[in-house]
Parts: sequence; C-alpha cells; structure tokens
Amino acid sequence: MQTRFTFPNKSFGKYGYLLVFVILVMACSRDRLPTNDSCADISCQNNGTCVNGTCECPEGFTGVSCEVSPSSLELRAQFGSTETLKVEVDGIFAYWWDLDFDHANEISVLKKWMNDIRADLNGIGIKDPSSFSDGYFTNIYIHHGEEDILPNYFGLGVGYDSAGFPYMTLPYLLAFTDHSSVLHEAFHIFQSSSGYDYVDTEEAAVWIIEALAEWYQMSRNSQHERSFIIIKSIDASPDLALWQYEPRVDVDLNGLTEDQQTALGWIFGIRQYANAAFLYYLTDIKNVDVGDVIGSMFDGKSITPQQYLFDQIGSEILRDYYTEWAAHNVAGYDYITESQLEIAEDEYDFFVENLPAGHAKPFVHELQNHNAVGTYRPEVLYRPKAWGYNVIKVNNSEAATYTFSLNGDTKGSEGADAHFEAQIVVKGNSTQTRFVEVDMSNATEGTVSVSVDSSETELYFVVAAVPEDFTGNQTYDYEVAIDRN
Ligand SMILES: [Zn+2]
Repeated sequence: MQTRFTFPNKSFGKYGYLLVFVILVMACSRDRLPTNDSCADISCQNNGTCVNGTCECPEGFTGVSCEVSPSSLELRAQFGSTETLKVEVDGIFAYWWDLDFDHANEISVLKKWMNDIRADLNGIGIKDPSSFSDGYFTNIYIHHGEEDILPNYFGLGVGYDSAGFPYMTLPYLLAFTDHSSVLHEAFHIFQSSSGYDYVDTEEAAVWIIEALAEWYQMSRNSQHERSFIIIKSIDASPDLALWQYEPRVDVDLNGLTEDQQTALGWIFGIRQYANAAFLYYLTDIKNVDVGDVIGSMFDGKSITPQQYLFDQIGSEILRDYYTEWAAHNVAGYDYITESQLEIAEDEYDFFVENLPAGHAKPFVHELQNHNAVGTYRPEVLYRPKAWGYNVIKVNNSEAATYTFSLNGDTKGSEGADAHFEAQIVVKGNSTQTRFVEVDMSNATEGTVSVSVDSSETELYFVVAAVPEDFTGNQTYDYEVAIDRN
C-alpha cells in the first residue's frame, strides 16, 4: 500500500500553490459533446446564426441558443458585495476587486482574454460554467494578498463557493500579464459546465483535470517561452503510469532538506500537469481531433480518460504516438523551441540538482561503448508502469553496430496482458537526431540493429509499456539484450 505523499508546507515554483488549491468536486451531469457537423436541429434565438452546429450570437447575447442577454444574469458573490468591492461585468463574467485598488485600465486585457477563451471553448464543444446556466455571472476575484478584504487564502486557482458555483482567483500581479495562467485557470472554470463528467470515484482519472487545463494553456500559447516550463519533470520519473502523481515508494521526508522535499513535491506533484505534453503532442503535433482529447473528460461514467483516448484514437495509433512522444522527449523535447527547452532545463535543474541519487531517474541503465553488451533488467523500483517508459542510455565514441533485443514478460506484475513498443534515438554533435522504430514481432518481443559512426555519441533505447490497462500501478518487466559489433 502506498502512502499518500504530503506536500511540504510551502509554495514552490510557478504552480506550487495550484496543487493545493485545486478542488476536485465537479458537476455530475451526463451530456455528451455535441456533434459539430449540422445545424439541422439547432435554432438560434435573438438573431443568432448557426455555424457548424453552434449558434453565433449577436453582441451581448450568450447561451447555447443565444437565449441569454447579459442583463438577465444576476450578481452573486460570496466574498463581498457591490458595497464592499468594485465590480465590473462583461459577457458572462463579473470581475471583483477591493475598492482600495484601481484596475479600471488594465481590466480590459483580462476581459478580452476571458471572452476569447469562452468563445474558443464554446467552439470546441465545452459549455459555459454552471453559474451561467443557473442565471449568475461567473465571478473572478483579483486580489492583493493580505492587503485587501478578500480572503488571504486566495491564490491562483479555481474554487467553488457555498452555492456550488465556480470562481476564479487571480493575484493582481498575474491577472493582466500572465496569459498562460489565465488560460489554465479559465479552463478549470469551464470544467464546471454541464457535460463535464469527471470520474470522481477512480483515482486513475484525477490526472486529466490538471493535464487538460495545462494542455489548453500549452496548445493555445504554444509559442510563449514559458509554456512548457514544467515539461522536464517527466524526465525524473518516466516509468510512472500516465496517471500516477505520487512517489514510487514511501518517502521519508525526515532525511531530506527542505529544498529536497520541495524538489520531490515538484517531481511527482507536477507530473499530471506535465503529462499535458502528451495531449499536446496528440493534438498539435499529430493532428488528433481535439474532440477526441477533450472528450476524455466528458465520458467518465465507466471508463477512465486514458481508456477513452485508447478507444477513441485507436489502440495501434495511440501506442505508436505514445512511443514516438517518449522518443521525442528523450531526444530533447524537439517538438518545443530551443528557448522553451532552456527554460524547462533551468526549472528541472533548480529542483532536481541536489536530490539524492535515485529520486530522479531519467535512465534505468547508462552504458559505455564496449561495456554496452549483455542482458539488462531494470530494478524493480523503476520498471515501467502502464503508459510509462524506460530509457537505456549508451555513450558511444566509435563506429559500431548495436543490436537491441527486447524480451518482455507477457504479463504485468498483477497479471494484466503486457504490450511493449520501443524506439531508438541516435544523437550526435554534428549529425541530425535519428529515430529508429523497433519492429515488434509480437506484443512483447522485438529486435533492432543500428549502425552508428564515431560522431554519434548518444544512443537511447526507449521501452514503452503500453498495455490495455488503465488503472493501478503494476509494473511491466522486460529484459534487453544488447550486442555490439
Ligand atoms: Zn490547475
């Protein structure tokens, strides 16, 4: 039995406080995504026009059928009133802040972001927040820490008030300048909408809440230099199941310094955010339909989001894309820009540098030239869990031909049918990175040979466990035989 990891009592990094602040109680209605191809059954009110199955409403009107004008929404705020706070309404949102402060000029920036996000999310089939469908403005509080009358526990995040309506809290220092954070939190606000059906009974489904909010931020802000700042946390524990965000084993925090505890909190707590990179890889690099990815949060009745992806995108394609994604991560996350990667590397080093050996484990084996011969099994602790991967690194300085033979156990440690895919990544100082797929002869075995010259200094053998198994943390064991000529 694994003990739940407790985060150190301090904030860390840009996302530290989000982790503590996320509230997992979500609305429970059971609508599906609307199909996007027909206006036949749609009638738009108030002179709205139907385009691809969605009503485009005249200025000021909102709602699925343009049935709501802003004037029909009511203000309702738990943390103040129009007497104690300044409020501005725009579209379906009400923006509140302490009367002692003036945001009259800059609020237009946030209003535009929020209106654009709403139009974008409505356009991909995500309905308005639950407060809207109940006839209320959705509240956004811009706060000043201890210097205003709003609660001091307000951070950057989304909570639910006593009426069950979602509200967003934005520190004033981020509210008008940090588009990434607003994208992420705004997505959470819309996760309260009817149709959002989060599987609250299944622990393996929790990751999708943060992964999707972060996916939205990455996808809509993909050129921003800080959009992928957390991505390298995957390197610390690529073996973990896609949905796992707890340490591999019980961690005794007593033996660690405060900074080391913070680093551990970052490695594991941030993973569910970082796994957004896989969703981003699907939609923005492989052009998987966005509906197939966000649909994972609409369909939580009996299957987990990861099984939804598997069923919807297809077992073969999803396995291929997962393995490809892992290989591109190993190749230095070559689907993001160099400056984005540099920032992500700084973040990783900042947290991980001083951790004792073994907590962060990018490679299960690291071998050199002639020593890269023999048979290897990963230590129990680092064996890949479902939809996790291992990397064996070979440092090379001579022309050689390496042959890797993967021989996986046919069952996971708790009896699920195993399935592996593998790729080789070859990197050199002067050569372009090469990717070589391993031809699998069945679900667990495959062999590949690759010839390299002396300038190709790094070989990575990437083993992905991609079974039809979507909960739990059983391991998928394997052996790799390496030959060198
Ligand atoms: Zn979040």
